[in-house]
Amino acid sequence: MLLQITTTHQPATDLGYLLHKHPDRFQSVKLSHGKAHLFYPEANEKKASICLLLDIDPIEMVKGARHLSGKGFALGQYVNDRPYTTSSFMSVALAKSFATAMNGTCSNKPELVEKVLPFEVKISVVSAPKGGEVLIRKLFEPLGYEVEIERHILDPKFPEWGESKYYTLLLKNTLTTQKLLNHLYVLLPVLDNDKHYYVSEHEVEKLLKKGEGWLYQHPEKEQIIYRYLFNLGSLTKKALAQLNLQNKVKLEEKPNEEETKKITLHEQRLQVVSQKLKELGVENILDLGCGEGKLIRLLLRDKQFKKIVGMDISHQSLKKAKERLHYNDMAPKQKERLDFFQGALTYKDSRLEGYDAAALVEVIEHLDLDRLSALERVVFEFAQPKNIIITTPNKEYNVLFETMETHQMRHDDHRFEWTRQEFQNWANTVAKKHEYSVKFEPIGEEEKEVGAPSQMAVFSRGDE
Ligand code: SAH
Repeated sequence: MLLQITTTHQPATDLGYLLHKHPDRFQSVKLSHGKAHLFYPEANEKKASICLLLDIDPIEMVKGARHLSGKGFALGQYVNDRPYTTSSFMSVALAKSFATAMNGTCSNKPELVEKVLPFEVKISVVSAPKGGEVLIRKLFEPLGYEVEIERHILDPKFPEWGESKYYTLLLKNTLTTQKLLNHLYVLLPVLDNDKHYYVSEHEVEKLLKKGEGWLYQHPEKEQIIYRYLFNLGSLTKKALAQLNLQNKVKLEEKPNEEETKKITLHEQRLQVVSQKLKELGVENILDLGCGEGKLIRLLLRDKQFKKIVGMDISHQSLKKAKERLHYNDMAPKQKERLDFFQGALTYKDSRLEGYDAAALVEVIEHLDLDRLSALERVVFEFAQPKNIIITTPNKEYNVLFETMETHQMRHDDHRFEWTRQEFQNWANTVAKKHEYSVKFEPIGEEEKEVGAPSQMAVFSRGDE
């Protein structure tokens, strides 16, 4: 299948900067079930066109789907239309090929990001079961697209066989590049009404992120969400509720509460950790690698936690945390409960001594494996709080993330990711060495065989 994006914005060669793809280079991006080839059939000052040609390997695809058998998975056959029609494969290819643009970044010409440009997108072919041409229009026209549709006949040699279910689409609109890509990312699989990967809660998060700024206002939002989530009623309900909530909160201008109401995986993680700290009866807590202070925000709400200290290696993160928590404008009593300092978890630091608990939420995987023993000594031997909570991704779950390649990790900055066994082996060894007991808990919904998306170890020392 072929997707072609054309602009007549001047100079049209800006398209290369916007999409981070040089017009003179032919590029291929590897996908789990094939390849996406990117090339410009035309690129000059007046007009530039980039093609994304998706080359799906049907055999790889069926192999990759084997672990999904028995889960109502629809594509487990060698002969199907997947290699030829636009579907969730195209979304994955878009996300992988144009990740930077989809995130609204353009390092060479940042001024282009906010700019609306005239675009034409040609896609051959799409199918649109349960809705056809009417559905295509209903999805794209409310977003300002001019839509031209050509329906293909089954076989030109036998016109009497009639029409096929496949269309070539031409979409025209003037909008930002990021919006265009996000619309396509969400709406192409919606048209197709199928998914080549297992749909989990993670998809809700992704849909809401890609739908930011347009999905809530879309008259067909229910149908979009339903079809995007593979017609799973329970997930659809959840997504709709979250979408409404987010936007309601936005309308009421309470941006700080917005995040706490979205039940993302990370939010779940933070809830589990803060609940655990509460159960442990701790009062003074170190949040090590506190990042932007998401855990701290939760902890501050509970009076049980008398002193909360955020530490991070990054000045930038600490600055952000203070801003997000309005640290400088806090009431004096509240402010007294909170402290921040910059430090590295790999260097002994007397400021870390004397606490009831330390939390390291999604931090260890950011360190090189050979630096982990330094962290162990700093936290378990020198700081030695009574309780230590560590969370880290469960690598086994990664097969359920659609855009991930076999050996890819969840974030560019992760240095390693562990299976449940690897994490437990490490934690058990550390616990034994430093005289802690340790218990493990999954975080997030558990799936058969691969477990939950994240995992937690709770270490305790002393009285227990
Ligand atoms: N705990 C936060 C942030 C997780 S991201 C949350 O759950 O939202 C990982 C954080 O660890 C980043 O903010 C990063 O700056 C910090 N970090 C990475 N290596 C570190 C080190 N050696 N010492 C201290 N912090 C570190």
